[in-house]
Amino acid sequence: MSAPNKSYDPVEVEALKPEEIERMQGEALAAFAAASSLDALHEAKVAHTGPASPLALANREIGALPPHAKAEAGKRVGMARGAVNKALAARQGELEAERDARVLVEEDVDVTLPHDRVPAGARHPLTTLSERIEDVFVAMGYEVAEGPEIEAEWFNFDALNIGPDHPARGEADTFFVEGPDGTGESGVVLRTHTSPVQIRSLLDRELPVYVICPGRVYRTDELDATHTPVFHQVELLAVDEGLTMADLKGTLDHMVQSLFGEDMKTRLRPNFFPFTEPSAEMDMVCYVCRGESVGNPDRPCRTCSSEGWIELGGCGMVNPRVLAACGVDPEKYSGFAFGFGIERMLMFRHNVEDMRDMVEGDVRFTRPFGMEI
Ligand SMILES: [Zn+2]
Repeated sequence: MSAPNKSYDPVEVEALKPEEIERMQGEALAAFAAASSLDALHEAKVAHTGPASPLALANREIGALPPHAKAEAGKRVGMARGAVNKALAARQGELEAERDARVLVEEDVDVTLPHDRVPAGARHPLTTLSERIEDVFVAMGYEVAEGPEIEAEWFNFDALNIGPDHPARGEADTFFVEGPDGTGESGVVLRTHTSPVQIRSLLDRELPVYVICPGRVYRTDELDATHTPVFHQVELLAVDEGLTMADLKGTLDHMVQSLFGEDMKTRLRPNFFPFTEPSAEMDMVCYVCRGESVGNPDRPCRTCSSEGWIELGGCGMVNPRVLAACGVDPEKYSGFAFGFGIERMLMFRHNVEDMRDMVEGDVRFTRPFGMEI
């Protein structure tokens, strides 16, 4: 700062010369005009109007001028600062307007768009029914067991007493996995039932064994209203000392009562399966008419065709040969097994008439079953 000087002329102070003030004002206006963002403008503002800016420094020089010179210099600097502040405010306004317009475009929300174009899905009823069945058996102390869907023939057939000449092993029913040389001699199939999981469970676990085996199985059927090449089974296996058909019957009664109502009953009809001996078909009382449609033409029942019973699945006492194949002593242990298709149970439990509805994945089919947790 210059020292007070009576003969002082403001034009002799470099920073207060009119052309200097004009230059500072011009630089400030140019800097504001060049600022392309609010951040850049803030920097220019600090540089040209802040306490260390040339005009602020020039303003401080005024105090050192003789009184008669202060007015003119003050007016000159004041006008320049006024012009600079006005230009700053104008540029600030421009940049804020640009930012607001940009935000409006970038954060635009089209309130006319549908808010939920993709409908929420629902769990497939085959899954929820399968889990509900599992829950019934887990509550009785059974363990859920799973196994591979691509299975060795030994597990799928031989261990279950289905010999090489058994018709179930024919190509009419079974998907054989191609061998590495392009032949069907790989010894591997897509499992035709979940029974191999029972074999694996017997081999893996200490006795006694109580398992339920849900899963996908494969047969060479065409997809139509009542057949599908991929479907789901639930099988259960109990192997313990002293198990009898009475235990099997009681277990089946408990299952249908848990799934269909407390007054449900089952009946067993003799049948033959290679892996059980004796074997039986299991029927349950028609849960729609409770058998009242039988001999009653006034009240026909579509669900059971007025027969009063619905066939649910096959069951029986585990064939001693199967136990022996798994290293279990059939003299000491006995067991029972039961299996059925989940698609079939879903069909008559919920009046689903076409199996294709279950595999096509249309949410309009699954949604009415609700969201069972
Ligand atoms: Zn009925």
